[in-house]
Amino acid sequence: NRSIYLVSRPEGMPEKSNFKTVESPVPQPAEGEVLVQTMYLSVDPYMRGRMRDVKSYVPPFPLNEVIVGGVVGRVVESKNPNFAKGDIIAGMLGWSDYSISNGKNIKKIETGAIPVTHALGILGMPGLTAYFGLLEIGKPKEGETVVVSGAAGAVGMVVGQIAKLKGCRVVGIAGTDEKNEYLRSELGFDATVNYKTTTNMRQSLAEACPNGIDVYFDNVGGEITDAVLTLINYQARIVICGQISAYNMEKPDLRPNPFTQLLIKSAMAKGFIASDFANRNQEGLAQLTEWVTQGKLKFKENVVEGLENTVEAFLGLFRGENLGKQLVKVHD
Ligand code: NDP
Repeated sequence: NRSIYLVSRPEGMPEKSNFKTVESPVPQPAEGEVLVQTMYLSVDPYMRGRMRDVKSYVPPFPLNEVIVGGVVGRVVESKNPNFAKGDIIAGMLGWSDYSISNGKNIKKIETGAIPVTHALGILGMPGLTAYFGLLEIGKPKEGETVVVSGAAGAVGMVVGQIAKLKGCRVVGIAGTDEKNEYLRSELGFDATVNYKTTTNMRQSLAEACPNGIDVYFDNVGGEITDAVLTLINYQARIVICGQISAYNMEKPDLRPNPFTQLLIKSAMAKGFIASDFANRNQEGLAQLTEWVTQGKLKFKENVVEGLENTVEAFLGLFRGENLGKQLVKVHD
């Protein structure tokens, strides 16, 4: 059984030396426990935050222990009456071949027409983040312009499609032409901006948003957000979901703060974490599942094979290597 441990805290962009693979015998479940074989594991930008030794909405990862994240797996041995051998589950488990669970941090998932991997993407935390963040904070109205940064990632591509379902003009910001082409031709985005190749971010956005910006779903922060804020309309809503451009900074970002833009437009900016809406997950999942089943929401997954490639897949998030949800396939 291989397990990936965090052995030192990264400064700046994480390096392979911050991680170590530890081999041990496959663990045996005690009474009340199950043994889970990892099928897919999720690498997520928020995990970078847990690698710092600072208090946040989730505690830091302890050093010299297995890293824990979203996993889809198969129960291979059960001593818990709620789970049977062969059940497919999703939950928060280790970056390992096998994990032990007492049943409290996992739930059974249906295996049918919907791919099991969706439990880590559109029908899991990223999908729910998009759904509640956009609808509850962004409150998009028909005819409004919605801009989403990190648009070709797991959260962003769902945000844009839901905004389209609500009748909005949708503009995505992503870092490659291939991603932007996908957003326009496959997902129905009205316009896109490649923030890496544009020579004038504000002007490119202004051209893409002739009526200004009513809702901004922010996954990245930094200079992209500064440019967006100069174009917001009166009473715009800013959904502060992520700030990935700052996650690997060694020193705090000392740019001027954006509050003046909010003030002069009477705009509202609100941060949130997906778990704020935990008591409404069933409702969110039911709606997302319906849209996926009806073909109204599409979703892309970028799957890397092999537990040994997990750290590279995680680092790839910060280099923009993923189109859609980044997953690692560990076992069939
Ligand atoms: P993604 O699938 O979007 O992967 C990350 C993407 O971010 C990359 O593909 C890359 O795309 C882009 N990116 C990386 N570095 C930068 C940078 N410096 N500037 C601009 N873009 C960058 O991840 P998720 O969809 O899982 O997460 C998106 C955001 O939402 C993250 O900030 C994450 O922390 C946040 N989040 C917040 C949650 C909450 O509860 N509030 C829950 C889940 C996620 P590109 O090629 O376009 O650069």
